[in-house]
Amino acid sequence: MSRHAVITGAGSGIGRQVAARFAGLGYRLTLADIDAAALPSAAEDCRAAGAAEVLTVAADLASPDGPESLIAEAWAAGPVDVLVNSAGIYPATPILSLDARTWDAVQNLNTRAPVLATVALAKRAIEAGRGASVINISSGAALRARPGAAPYSTSKAALEMATRASALELGQHGIRVNAVAPGFVTVNSSANPVTEEYAAAVSGNPLGRRGEPDDIARAVVWLSGEEAEWITGETLRVDGGSSTGAINLPLHWPAGTAVQGKKGNHEG
Ligand code: NAD
Repeated sequence: MSRHAVITGAGSGIGRQVAARFAGLGYRLTLADIDAAALPSAAEDCRAAGAAEVLTVAADLASPDGPESLIAEAWAAGPVDVLVNSAGIYPATPILSLDARTWDAVQNLNTRAPVLATVALAKRAIEAGRGASVINISSGAALRARPGAAPYSTSKAALEMATRASALELGQHGIRVNAVAPGFVTVNSSANPVTEEYAAAVSGNPLGRRGEPDDIARAVVWLSGEEAEWITGETLRVDGGSSTGAINLPLHWPAGTAVQGKKGNHEG
């Protein structure tokens, strides 16, 4: 029987392209999203790309029971081999405008939902004596704070630790848990709109082009599969090198200036 992957946030952007990649490998797919209207066309794309079967589940994964219900429904259609947690929100929230509702909404979807979905899958996989592979979609924001992104950055930093913590406990059962942390990726998102001004400022990287959803999808497929069978608890940064450092700074000292012996206060 072909392998079964569950992909959250599959209606749009990175999750949708991840689904298309697994479809091309002949997987059975369960596609989940809160945007019910986006699911039929995502499923159609997957069938056209070669998916064995496609189930769609409209679900609010930020609700306390959403992740467990999704995995129960997916598992009823057949054992699940791969879970990709891509559903996420990144509302612009200046810290002085922060309230409990926004904070909880971001943490509940971006951090709690992937963890609860992993637990729901792991319980069933262990009972069935099967292994499984989980990929959490993190972000470069996990390492670097940004204006207006305190809840988001925190949610992704926590997700990377939850990835390690889950991997630590579940490895003995043959369940791997890893993360992929994208740099800026162009998506036409209605849930997460981004201005061109922001995109231009955030997307600089050594490889010199913006990311595409397929850059992330190919890494997810590889990390979830057999070739990565001895990797768990890892976060793979797929970002054109943007996490290497600050690409857009000028030289810290004018070229040709003799620095040695020069007096003055400067930070290096
Ligand atoms: P997107 O908006 O295109 O996709 C996110 C999907 O999640 C949407 O289809 C949306 O309907 C769904 N969703 C939102 N709330 C939900 C809920 N409560 N329950 C279920 N589904 C819900 O955005 P994207 O850029 O493809 O983001 C996918 C993931 O990638 C997110 O976790 C995001 O944080 C991460 N990411 C994106 C970028 C980027 O530059 N695009 C960079 C780093 C990380």
